[in-house]
Amino acid sequence: MSDYLVKALAYEGFVRAYAVDATETISEAQRRHDTWNTASAALGRTMIGALMLGATLKGEDKMTVKVEGDGPAGAIVVDSNGKGDVKGYIKNPHISLPLNEVGKIDVRGAVGTSGMFTVIKDLGLKEPFSGQTPIVSGELGEDFTYYLAVSEQIPSAVGVSVLVDTDDTIKTAGGFMIQIMPGASDEIIDQIELRLKETTRISTLLDEGQTPETILKSLLATDDVDFLETMPVQFKCDCSKEKFASAIITLGADQIQELIDQDHGAEAVCAFCNNKYQYSEADLAELKQEILGE
Ligand SMILES: [Zn+2]
Repeated sequence: MSDYLVKALAYEGFVRAYAVDATETISEAQRRHDTWNTASAALGRTMIGALMLGATLKGEDKMTVKVEGDGPAGAIVVDSNGKGDVKGYIKNPHISLPLNEVGKIDVRGAVGTSGMFTVIKDLGLKEPFSGQTPIVSGELGEDFTYYLAVSEQIPSAVGVSVLVDTDDTIKTAGGFMIQIMPGASDEIIDQIELRLKETTRISTLLDEGQTPETILKSLLATDDVDFLETMPVQFKCDCSKEKFASAIITLGADQIQELIDQDHGAEAVCAFCNNKYQYSEADLAELKQEILGE
């Protein structure tokens, strides 16, 4: 089944909740970037969190999540939008660390425990919104939670998880985001907190055949959940040969002539999706002409 995200309200609107099955999306990221298991989990978790944050935006609005820790993974950069599209990359995709002390993939070991967690939202206004918090965990779910609490003042619980198979393919991937609205009673908060403590990872629940809907009902500790919207989610990159051509043009006519003379062409690789675009000598000559305006 293809990936989707559900948006819901519960407890008379005092609790807003999202859950997503992103198994295919993270599988595609894994294949495109050839990530090894620890890197797959680190990139996948960031993408799942970004998908859910992105789902709070309107359709055309978009955002970027940047995780810049001191671990061997290097920077993780993910773009998402209000339409369920996500793309992302991890600086060092070939990270495979021994399991951590509880027998799980050591995402913290790959990400690191200090550094910055940054969210930039392009809401179609003059200035993009930008919020930044320090990395507090490196496991990423807690880092999304901390960011929301501190930067956006929304008390939340965020869970993101990726189950990697022994052959490095993605078995399941998904997450949830629960947000408490102002005025919610302590009883509601206690009930949900208690349930969160006893809940296993979303990727395991998905592997057991649960759906975003059943997972949310279970997490919210009520059957009275009002599902507002179901949105397909997917790995999607908006790069094209034309877009990279504009980047080549910014090199200037002399640089382009050098590419023609020395390399007899050029290749551009998209960091987000790993698509490659070839520019022949004739393509480059045409770009140079554009600059010279002939
Ligand atoms: Zn791309």
